[in-house]
Amino acid sequence: MAEHPSPPDDDGGDPACWLRRVCPACGGLAEEDPPTRCPRCGERIEEA
Ligand SMILES: [Zn+2]
Repeated sequence: MAEHPSPPDDDGGDPACWLRRVCPACGGLAEEDPPTRCPRCGERIEEA
């Protein structure tokens, strides 16, 4: 039923706060809010 990967550490319960962490290149989930880097492929994740 879930269409998105589960956040590793959901501290708010608001999907919008982790959706922007999703890597545009591989769909991986960053461990922190952007700007940061994807832990899976190293792609830069810019702040929305
Ligand atoms: Zn990635």
